[in-house]
Amino acid sequence: MHIHAVSAFDDNYIWIIHDSHHCVVIDPGQAEGVIEFVSQHQLSIAAILVTHHHHDHTGGVKALRQLTDCPVYGPDNPTISELTHRVGDADNVNIPSLGLDFSVLACPGHTLDHIAFYAAPWLFCGDTLFSAGCGRMFEGQPQQFWHSLEYLSALPDDTLVYCAHEYTEANLNFAAAVEPDNHAITTYLAEVKKKREDGQITLPSTLALEFNVNPFLRCRMQSVKDAAQQRAQTSLTDPADVFACIRHWKDSF
Ligand SMILES: [Zn+2]
Repeated sequence: MHIHAVSAFDDNYIWIIHDSHHCVVIDPGQAEGVIEFVSQHQLSIAAILVTHHHHDHTGGVKALRQLTDCPVYGPDNPTISELTHRVGDADNVNIPSLGLDFSVLACPGHTLDHIAFYAAPWLFCGDTLFSAGCGRMFEGQPQQFWHSLEYLSALPDDTLVYCAHEYTEANLNFAAAVEPDNHAITTYLAEVKKKREDGQITLPSTLALEFNVNPFLRCRMQSVKDAAQQRAQTSLTDPADVFACIRHWKDSF
């Protein structure tokens, strides 16, 4: 089994899991790159998975379904009209042709409908968790988003994080501002810069790495808490308040 990244728009990745015959497409914001890849490799699309309603994750679904009458799994949000199966937390999505069984994890925060798909060791988390960052909080509340990140963090350390955007370098610049003395951030930033200069993708990441470099997963750490308290000029005891502070800080970074 292979996982291929199709680049879309400025910095989106559409993930395609495939063997030599079938594939699953995750968050096709555009159809073109996906069509090119599947026709090149003569793959039939067994299913499409959608993590949330944003157009850069759903825009290509209609065109792909005109080619293949495959099932489309996504969150129970009526604004996503192309879905054939509406799924929520603790549901399973079974793709027999590829022997895949995904667990659905509800992770509201970036949007209220956001879900992630997990089939060990792969986590397809859309715009909830990024490498060294997390999605903008468009619809959710800090407490809710923080709980979603904690929920995803409970997966095994070796979980491979397949997020939907190439934001790693910018995220690390922010992470370094939050924790200037965190050497894991400095080291990772150097690696990521090199990869980007060479035109390489920085994903997938692992949860183990994210625990060391991602300020949004590190809200319980004293260094992140100190930085947030300094920024907020007040004492923050709840990690969700630390999260709220650094999420807000990142918005204007
Ligand atoms: Zn989004």
